[in-house]
Amino acid sequence: MTITEFKTACETLQQEYQTKISAAQSASEVEDLRVASLGRKGALTDLLKSLKDFSIEDKKTAGPLGNALKAALTAALDEKQSFFATKELNEELNKTEIDLTLPGEPVACGHRHPLSVAQDRMTEILSQLGFEWAEGPWVEDEKHNFDLLNIPLHHPARDAQDTFFVDGKMPLVLRTHTSNVQSRYMEKHKPPLRIMAPGRVFRNDSLDATHSPVFHQIEGLYVDKNVSMADLKSDLTAFMKGLFGDKAEIRFRPSFFPFTEPSVEVDVKCVFCQGKGCNVCKGSGWIEMLGAGVVHPNVLKNCGIDPEQFSGYAFGMGVERLAMMMLNIKDIRTFYENDLRILKQF
Ligand SMILES: [Zn+2]
Repeated sequence: MTITEFKTACETLQQEYQTKISAAQSASEVEDLRVASLGRKGALTDLLKSLKDFSIEDKKTAGPLGNALKAALTAALDEKQSFFATKELNEELNKTEIDLTLPGEPVACGHRHPLSVAQDRMTEILSQLGFEWAEGPWVEDEKHNFDLLNIPLHHPARDAQDTFFVDGKMPLVLRTHTSNVQSRYMEKHKPPLRIMAPGRVFRNDSLDATHSPVFHQIEGLYVDKNVSMADLKSDLTAFMKGLFGDKAEIRFRPSFFPFTEPSVEVDVKCVFCQGKGCNVCKGSGWIEMLGAGVVHPNVLKNCGIDPEQFSGYAFGMGVERLAMMMLNIKDIRTFYENDLRILKQF
């Protein structure tokens, strides 16, 4: 066979099979044509056998021609095959009379835990106020949990009745507050710094309606030149307004914490009775929300920041307590019992 004859044979073969494929009446006819053309003993396979007698020069022309023909036939066969497949599917659908306009079955969908919802809302507002995210370890040494924060050795917080010690002895504890992030962050960063540290904390308490051995806090710390109680008050007011709406009011009561001086407890006007007095606020019209204060100079000094040059404020709030207010939940255990009938309401 000459190269010219080969070309003609290719064209003839292509025409012949294209016609047959278009005329095919069923999927099985298409399969028969596939075997007859591309099969081991098929027409194309047969034609390609003549390649072996060609010169190298002719093979360079003939090879691609054979490949192109094979690709064209395969494509035509596949197209026809999928035409029959679709046709068959449609016939099947018509037979079973499915009403495609019916709405689908509802798919059960999970959602975030109410504590996550509340914590995200709080950190979102804090980040709008310029606080950056910071984290610290749950298992902490006494140095970062107590010593650097000006909590003396004899302080009752260091007692085993309040604190979980790892392996029952010093020096490792499960952190009792998120304030360990303060000491760790200040050791590594120079002011100005403005961080929020949300996370899990641990206290040796038994579980009841208002206490849990594991709960969540969000720590806030702002250190710069000339930071005062006025900054604390304005930032916390903005935070509470963000959380409870423009009408939210806060008040400060003097308090004592070893790591702040002066220290305050911050109350929010009861959102359930607007200050008139109800059973949630126990008739007082105010709900205790968090502890805060101006960072004690000793804490700054312990963490390598000059208290003559810089000052700061810090606050720590319980996520559960705020979440209970936001979501009108009366019992802290609701968060941990994983009762879907309750969790699905939020
Ligand atoms: Zn009230």
